[in-house]
This record gives sequence, C-alpha cells and structure tokens, in this order.
Amino acid sequence: MTNAYKSPIQPGAKALNPRATALLPDLQTEFLVKLARLRFVCSQHGINIGKPLIHRSAATQKMLYCQGRTRPGSIVTNADAWQSPHQYDLAADCQLSWMPKPPNHGELDLHTTFGICVSTVKLTWGGNFRSIHDPCHVELPGWPKGAKTY
Ligand SMILES: [Zn+2]
Repeated sequence: MTNAYKSPIQPGAKALNPRATALLPDLQTEFLVKLARLRFVCSQHGINIGKPLIHRSAATQKMLYCQGRTRPGSIVTNADAWQSPHQYDLAADCQLSWMPKPPNHGELDLHTTFGICVSTVKLTWGGNFRSIHDPCHVELPGWPKGAKTY
C-alpha cells in the first residue's frame, strides 16, 4: 500500500450527494486496503491479479452502456454513467493469471479460486452477479450507488 495514491475524483463530484461525497475518501481507502489484502491472499493461492483497472470515466462507462443498446455489439454492462463503482474508484477489474507453479487446487479453476479469495477479504465478486457474469471484477460492498438514486 502506498500513500501516494491520488483519487481522480474531485471533492464535490456532481454525481454523488454530499453525504456520499464526504464518505468517499474513507471508502476508497477501505477499498484499496482490501485490494492489497486480496493481492496477498491470491498470491498464497498461486494467483496473480496483475495491475487492476480501477478508475473508469463516466464517458467510457456511457459508451460501454450503449454497446448492445444503441451501438453494435453485445451488452456488457447494466450500469450507465455514474452507476458503476468504477466511477468512484470503488471497484477493480483484475487481470488474473496463475503464477508459474500454483498450488494444486484439484478441480477448482482460476475464477472459482479467485472468488474464494475475494470472499475472504470481504469484497463483492462479479462472478456472483446474476445478470452479467464478471469474474474478474471486485467491488466494495455497500458502495453508495450513483447520484440518480439520491
Ligand atoms: Zn469491473
């Protein structure tokens, strides 16, 4: 964990209500601590999480949301702009791979093993999502959902 991390989200971001905005720095710290724990737990199980992709701009989220709706392609997300925890730096997409000599997990594949690791650090795993299976995605449980609901 480095304290050099600087959130790209400015205080008072328009998409969150003031109460949620005030909570954001603490939540981002909590998420990064859990992500660091996840990296450690995964390494003990022979999984490398690569360089997790945390921030996704609202514009990029909007583009992904339009895919399969108003743009070609298949639907990849149900979250519109500001409705994904990636806009608040409270989620990460990991780049999963086995380390060269992972421990023997029997029948468990990479994603299943990763899901078990995610549950031990108390993050929410995208592999459990019912609508769109997203096994490389983790997020902070209970993150304050975007502005449109406030
Ligand atoms: Zn994600």
